[in-house]
Amino acid sequence: MGRFSGFRVTIGQVGKVVTTNYPDEKRPKPARFHGRHVLNRYEDGMEKCIGCELCAGVCPAKCIYVRGADNPPDAPVSPGERYGFVYEINYLRCIHCDMCVEACPTGAITETKLFEFSFTNRADAIYTKAELLVDDDGRARRQPWELWLGGEDDQTSAWMRATSPAGQVAWEGRVGWSGELGFGVRAPELGQTAPPEPESIDDHGHDGHEHAHHGDHDHGGHH
Ligand code: SF4
Ligand code: SF4
Repeated sequence: MGRFSGFRVTIGQVGKVVTTNYPDEKRPKPARFHGRHVLNRYEDGMEKCIGCELCAGVCPAKCIYVRGADNPPDAPVSPGERYGFVYEINYLRCIHCDMCVEACPTGAITETKLFEFSFTNRADAIYTKAELLVDDDGRARRQPWELWLGGEDDQTSAWMRATSPAGQVAWEGRVGWSGELGFGVRAPELGQTAPPEPESIDDHGHDGHEHAHHGDHDHGGHH
């Protein structure tokens, strides 16, 4: 490169605006951006978490603390036998790898695109279940230390799981969706298709060889 070639590159940039007026303006985030989590609910309001602790077991950063409890028969919290009684994520440790999302058999835990938060004490960095659980509109609950603008919580709840739902071999390679409070069932993402369900698989992902009864609910059905 000649002596003045570098100057030519520099001069060529004069007048070009390459920054945005952050935080009033923000660049769009990728569709699968990994931000902070939410705990999702079904369209009828029931919680998806069944307190199985798989997310905590798979987390490489050991930042999830979850304890399950039996559902009260008169007022069940989730459609399963158990629900997530305690649920905490420590964001001083989380590396947003999404492995918890992949491991969750019910799509209860998903990652939003919300990531801008500034803690003034360590306790705030440990999100409790009350902070993680979506509100009655199916949206993330904004915490005082989080910086996000109107509309940034759109498209933050449901997340399309590209892996086999519930680990059923017959579902391998198929994309599964379940209804989300406030959002319904999402359309496939670009490049994804949802082929018709095999005849041998019912709404709960069971093939003809299984006869376990999971109640008469229709939560988590695959569409
Ligand atoms: S995204 Fe990764 S590090 Fe964060 S809670 Fe989930 S499994 Fe753990
Ligand atoms: S979030 Fe999913 S994986 Fe974690 S305890 Fe709840 S149901 Fe199990």
